[in-house]
Amino acid sequence: MREQRYLSVLFILYFIIFFFSAISIRAQEVEDEREFDYGAKSEKGPRKWGELKKEWEACKNGEMQSPIDMSQERVRIIRKPEIRHYKLCNATVKNRGHDISVQWHGDAGSVLINGTNYPLQQAHWHSPSEHTVNGRRYDMEMHMVHLNENATNTIAVTAVLYKIGKPDRFLSKLIRNISSMIDKKDEVKNAGLIDPREIKVGSRTYYRYMGSLTVPPCTEGVIWTIKKKVRTVSRAQVKMLREAVHDYAARNVRPLQPINKRPVYLMAPEDTT
Ligand SMILES: [Zn+2]
Repeated sequence: MREQRYLSVLFILYFIIFFFSAISIRAQEVEDEREFDYGAKSEKGPRKWGELKKEWEACKNGEMQSPIDMSQERVRIIRKPEIRHYKLCNATVKNRGHDISVQWHGDAGSVLINGTNYPLQQAHWHSPSEHTVNGRRYDMEMHMVHLNENATNTIAVTAVLYKIGKPDRFLSKLIRNISSMIDKKDEVKNAGLIDPREIKVGSRTYYRYMGSLTVPPCTEGVIWTIKKKVRTVSRAQVKMLREAVHDYAARNVRPLQPINKRPVYLMAPEDTT
């Protein structure tokens, strides 16, 4: 009799422990739950971004959203080279869940656009590409995000497109950091001194248009520079980036947005025309 009672107390204790550990696992799941994802039919997918938060309304109501297709008909030739002055600077690599980013801490230099300096803050990758050129989607796109809080348009993003081929040297340098943070959202690794000049931005010819951030809050007034020269990245490097981010963002690409009569310029240096 006594033994039986002892057993039932044990059973109840076991049940309580099981119950609470289940709750704490559930709480952890909720804690690192995604804020948004890329699923076409997902409740948190690109079609729903503008409804998820009040601050994300531009994703739904904005009239100058990104990405877009850069098609030939809208291209105009303007002779104005872009001036970049990047510097060696301390950086960290972060798994943001929806992408892998390199964040510079300190003065990594800047880009000069229409007389305004935009200091470089971070770079990250999307695969496949978000912007398309004449309907063609490339295998990867890198975004270099520049910020000037005092400018009329505070954000300037330089994008580089990649197709499968030889490995990208800049990504090769970060491979150890990136492969150590597979599926670890918010993991940050010190990458030491990282030189933005090692990002092969390439040609002086580029597309320019006014758009938005391609992730929530989809902030508008972003000055976009999309380099015309397509670089290469290896299949293994793209695979590594996709494995590192969470499954919901393995294909971290926002669908094309309406152009709404925005001009897209092709900026080419004089000697090429
Ligand atoms: Zn981006």
